[in-house]
Amino acid sequence: MARAKTSLFLKRDFQVIYAIILIILIPIAIILNTIWSVKSSQYNTDISLQTQAYNIGKMFNYSVYQNAENDQDLQNKIDLLTQANLGLETLDVLKKDGERFKIIASMDHQIIGHSSEDLNYVISWHQNDAIATLVSGKVETGKEDQRFWELVMPLKNADGEKEAVLSMRLSLKVIDDLTKATLARSYLFLVITVLIVILLLALNTRLFEHAILFRRLKEVDKMKDEFISIASHELRTPITTLKGYLSMALEGDYGELNEVGKKGFKIMEASVNRLGSLVEDLLNVSRIEQNRLLVKRAPIELPALLDSIVAEFELRVKEKGLVMKPNIPRDLPKVFADEDKLRQVLVNLVGNSVKYTKEGEIELIAKKEDDRLLTITIKDTGIGMSGEEREKLFDKFYRVQTDETRGIVGTGLGLWITKQLVELMGGKIYVDSIKHVGSQFYFTLPIYDPNIHKAEQIKDEKNNKKTA
Ligand code: ADP
Repeated sequence: MARAKTSLFLKRDFQVIYAIILIILIPIAIILNTIWSVKSSQYNTDISLQTQAYNIGKMFNYSVYQNAENDQDLQNKIDLLTQANLGLETLDVLKKDGERFKIIASMDHQIIGHSSEDLNYVISWHQNDAIATLVSGKVETGKEDQRFWELVMPLKNADGEKEAVLSMRLSLKVIDDLTKATLARSYLFLVITVLIVILLLALNTRLFEHAILFRRLKEVDKMKDEFISIASHELRTPITTLKGYLSMALEGDYGELNEVGKKGFKIMEASVNRLGSLVEDLLNVSRIEQNRLLVKRAPIELPALLDSIVAEFELRVKEKGLVMKPNIPRDLPKVFADEDKLRQVLVNLVGNSVKYTKEGEIELIAKKEDDRLLTITIKDTGIGMSGEEREKLFDKFYRVQTDETRGIVGTGLGLWITKQLVELMGGKIYVDSIKHVGSQFYFTLPIYDPNIHKAEQIKDEKNNKKTA
């Protein structure tokens, strides 16, 4: 049970796993790097010591062996070398004695006279070449192993003829001790680094908390979206019923209403309409946020659509004492847009202009910009906005809070939805406004070009079929 819980937690909280991976990976990277650097520097030192061993051998041949008058003189010179302490562990000079090699001079007096059949002596002698071997062994019993370069090389007289064999061991103890010390120091640093990393991550438990909070927030956000979506859907039906019965009541289907009753029903109707548009706005928000809003783009004749918008607002404009000035050329090219969504955009923008204008006029201008683009502008002589108020204008639920807007009802969703819809149709929306002078909202739409848009139209149709 507990294990299942842990694995579910890890699965869901990727950031926590990420932190754990870091705790493991950082020390591993440091360990690998330390081992690799130490080993490669040790290898380089070994090779350079091998060369040094060869050089010592050659020097011994020319400066010591060739200058020795006899075996005793050679032994004296080797004794002097021993005192000089060149890092040599052993040094023997051997002469061939039948099949064997006999020690004639050595750093260790005790072994003089001993003979050996060591294979390296035989090979070096026969190949007339030096052999260097990396060996390890104990110098004294009970002590730890040491590494050596064991060099075996033929010794030649002044005429270049081989006469004897030199066998010597050059200790790598100093280098190995240094390497060990470096490694020990690196491991210490490693432990400290690991501790720091763990402390940082452990102290920073906020990272874990944030990961969990972030996931919860996403879950809550999803729940909120679902709730809004379900609630709005459920509200739609009773609102439609209310609208139907109210309009029937107002039309006198249930008997003639007196003036007071009519007024009350009218107020009710206005409230129900407001409720209806709020529900529609919320549904649109949840559809857009869940990418469920389908676009059905097609070539559209703008003048007819814009005329119908002007007609739709005629009464409201007149009631407010405003003037609507359409400027819609009849020869406008077709635009590539979703008719319902474009209508919604225009209703939102013209609706706002009427809502936020106390006197003056509202212009609806359509203009071809170039071969690709067309702009639609909605200009009013309304309350306008300051630069600061304009900044968050297209944010969800944003409403300008001033004395002038206080009495005007709204949700702050209209412009957010409008922007999303314009962008879904491949356009862009802009605003210019001067406080107390007026505002102008304008947006672009692509001009219909069959070469480009036919394929996109088919794509939209396919998408719609898929989700239908
Ligand atoms: P709502 O109108 O429901 O409050 P909108 O998203 O449509 O929401 O608009 C956001 C805010 O932008 C409004 O509250 C209003 O303050 C401001 N606004 C929108 N259109 C205009 C306009 N034409 N003139 C002045 N202010 C406007």
